[in-house]
Amino acid sequence: MPGLYIVATPIGNLGDISARAAAVLARADLIAAEDTRVTAKLLSHLGLRVPMTPYHDHSDERTRADLVAQMADKVVALVSDAGTPLISDPGYKLVRDARAAGRLVTTLPGPCAAIAAITLSGLPSDRFLFAGFLPSKAKARADTIAEFASLRASLIFYESGPRLGASLAALAEGLGNREAAVAREITKLYEECVTGSLADLAARYTAAPPKGEIVIVVAPPTEGAAEVADDAVVDAALRAALAA
Ligand code: SAM
Repeated sequence: MPGLYIVATPIGNLGDISARAAAVLARADLIAAEDTRVTAKLLSHLGLRVPMTPYHDHSDERTRADLVAQMADKVVALVSDAGTPLISDPGYKLVRDARAAGRLVTTLPGPCAAIAAITLSGLPSDRFLFAGFLPSKAKARADTIAEFASLRASLIFYESGPRLGASLAALAEGLGNREAAVAREITKLYEECVTGSLADLAARYTAAPPKGEIVIVVAPPTEGAAEVADDAVVDAALRAALAA
């Protein structure tokens, strides 16, 4: 059936491509790829040659309109460099426009670093918030972290090695010294998941910034800590209301 197929690809180990994902890529008329050079390696691993076109959310509207037009009679597969498209990756505007045009939109779920990390972490997985990348500037980062402080949920962040120590320290400051996990190079040769308090992890990774791809998972607040955080939010709201 023609339409838009959202295809998850491996986050490291190429063996994680699903049979259905490989089959859809094999019969796709066109692959819209975040970086065609990266996807070319996956296609070569699968022994496939399929036309590709670059796609980003900052691609102009004409590019999107053209892709949506092609979905009327072609199988268009959307892939990102790794993992699930749209998850800290391009795609949502294309999905939005394809839906608005009444095209078939379907998904081939698969690897996602955030989900893989929380399953590795040993931290509560019943409720979690995926928060993508923290801002790199200190003030914006602290403001963002403050928004999450009272949530009774585990928090998941994507991060890079050089920024890891500073982000962990900012999380310890904004959330309190909660339990956390740093999952690195998931599904790759040097996969590891290190757990500890935010302060201990901050000290460890500030002293020795790690290489590779990283996900931080932070435990929810303990009961007392959540109440303190909630009180702080209420106090701030009251102060803002009184000042208005
Ligand atoms: N769409 C992808 C997904 O489904 O996970 C995420 C894309 S985002 C641009 C890339 C970030 O995901 C990396 O900077 C890292 O934080 C995380 N990531 C991707 N692969 C990873 C891996 N194998 N191990 C740990 N983190 C990974």
